[in-house]
Amino acid sequence: MKILLATAELHPFSKTGGLADMVAALGKSLAAAGHDVVMMTPLYRGIRARFKEDLHQLDYDIKVPMGTAEAHGGIAELRLKKNLRVLFVDQPAYYDRPALYGENNTEYPDNPERYIFFSKAVAHVVRYFGWRPDVVNVHDWQAGLIPVMLKHSALMDGWDAPATVLTIHNLAYQGHYSKARAFDLSNLPMEFFNPAGIEFYGGVNFLKAAIVYSDAITTVSPRYAREICTEEYGCSLDAVLRERQHRLTGILNGVDYDEWNTTKNLHLHNPYSPRNMRGKALNKLELQHELGLPPNPGVPLFGTVTRLADQKGVDIILGMLEEMLAKDMQFALLGSGDPEIQTAYKRLEQRYPDKVCARIGFDLGLSHRIEAGCDFFLMPSRFEPCGLNQMYSLRFGTIPIVRRTGGLDDSVVDPRDDLDLADGIKFNEFSVSALSKAVRKALVVFEHRELFDRMRKNGMTVDFSWDRTCGEYERIYRSVAKAI
Ligand code: ADP
Repeated sequence: MKILLATAELHPFSKTGGLADMVAALGKSLAAAGHDVVMMTPLYRGIRARFKEDLHQLDYDIKVPMGTAEAHGGIAELRLKKNLRVLFVDQPAYYDRPALYGENNTEYPDNPERYIFFSKAVAHVVRYFGWRPDVVNVHDWQAGLIPVMLKHSALMDGWDAPATVLTIHNLAYQGHYSKARAFDLSNLPMEFFNPAGIEFYGGVNFLKAAIVYSDAITTVSPRYAREICTEEYGCSLDAVLRERQHRLTGILNGVDYDEWNTTKNLHLHNPYSPRNMRGKALNKLELQHELGLPPNPGVPLFGTVTRLADQKGVDIILGMLEEMLAKDMQFALLGSGDPEIQTAYKRLEQRYPDKVCARIGFDLGLSHRIEAGCDFFLMPSRFEPCGLNQMYSLRFGTIPIVRRTGGLDDSVVDPRDDLDLADGIKFNEFSVSALSKAVRKALVVFEHRELFDRMRKNGMTVDFSWDRTCGEYERIYRSVAKAI
């Protein structure tokens, strides 16, 4: 099949979260399965400089209306393999900025315009580039208007547009903007602007548009697929999703083990494996040293790498630490986001310099070293569509402590679920006391070396590789693609 993936972030070119990892790995594994894959994403600042040897500007001009004005853009191509290419949408006024979506915790005000242009550029390429995909898989709200734009263009001009699939990585981010900021730039006719179409409470909701107009919808874990159809987790789109539930499938993300492994990892000094865990112990000591915590193999080290956002339960981690830091334990955080939460963690670090290290920022290497050096990894999310870090933790022999929600529930086994296969600790209620209880259990596990070792080994041998995930996406694509 010819498959186009459209995404606002793509590892290793741009990343704020799991979306970037997932789409890059999906593309790679679809190409490895023999498909012809193109990934489209904006050419953000810095990409051209970092990849200048491999990037080729194509002789291709995108000219699209943006409301009453007109916008131009180009395409830069990067070939990863014969059948795997990235086409970057080059439009400096929209994408050559210090950050992807905004600065100082404030979105860029023209984000709807930036991603309407991106969507139009993708639709333009689908139609005119000379490489016609069988399926276009759009990811998250930023690419959400692509299906309706393709549908509209096909209706208008009578061409055979490809099938479309939406993948929802996080329902909480929808791209909901006023009619003036979004619809008027979309150049779609008024018949699409109604509650059965892309309208949402008087404005435009990009994600809703994709839910309504895609031929199939996937999300990133089976449990999250069920959760988002309920009022509790539906973020006001549950009714729309329930209407399309027959088209909705939950597929657990895979892990790119070429990058996230413990034996050949350029971010780790000491390789290790289930049969030889010495390297992990050394990584722990080095991590403690790097973070300014007293190096000590006997102290349980808890870690987390996360966006500092409400979703991630970083508030209940703070509450839990207030309760638990009297015990013999250490805690390491790498994260960035909400300035108030950043400050709260920095304050805690000042109060407990021998027990807490809070690194504010985005640091890929350190994220690997935290995964490898810690004993336990905390992920007490309010909701979690899939979550990658808990799967990285499992492979790194770091026992995840997770809330029973979304992909966390689908990927971790608690001793109460299956004592022999247990590889993590789960709790139900979103509260400080429930998390503290889970951490107390972890301290008990840490003392029971045999159970601790067994849980670590169980986690390290679980397989979340992309082969399975890729096969499920292929099945969905085949079910919607015409004449394949
Ligand atoms: P989400 O996509 O909701 O942020 P995931 O667990 O699915 O959560 O993916 C998060 C990804 O982003 C992981 O690869 C994680 O290591 C990475 N990440 C998050 N915050 C940071 C950070 N501050 N530094 C480095 N990597 C980070």
